[in-house]
Amino acid sequence: MKLKALIIEDNEQNMYMLTFLLENNNYEVFQAFNGLDGIKAAIEHSPDVILLDIQLPQMDGYQIAKELRKKNDLQHIPIVAVTSHAMVADREKAMESGATGYIEKPIDPDNFIQRMESYFSEELQQRKIRL
Ligand code: MN
Repeated sequence: MKLKALIIEDNEQNMYMLTFLLENNNYEVFQAFNGLDGIKAAIEHSPDVILLDIQLPQMDGYQIAKELRKKNDLQHIPIVAVTSHAMVADREKAMESGATGYIEKPIDPDNFIQRMESYFSEELQQRKIRL
């Protein structure tokens, strides 16, 4: 069974690139283009990792992370904020909202997966290795 990744991202190009990278690295990908759909998809699919854009219409990524962390079943899932906000304050805000880690845009395809997986728990890293 593949690891499941949920991408919450409103930009088509970024969505395409993240999906491409994840699928090439043997992930099953679920896509959501806004926060409400993202939260629904997280509940429905229990992904192993969530990639979360911060600048989104309606709910922003900070609000989405907070909502996700309220749900018991979703508390252990690594949430990686992917955002062009490069300021330290934004990074801190993402972490305070419940994100596990932070990767800046523009995405570097050569190390994105490695950086994302560095935020995995030991248990999840072992599962990935055994696949
Ligand atoms: Mn966006």
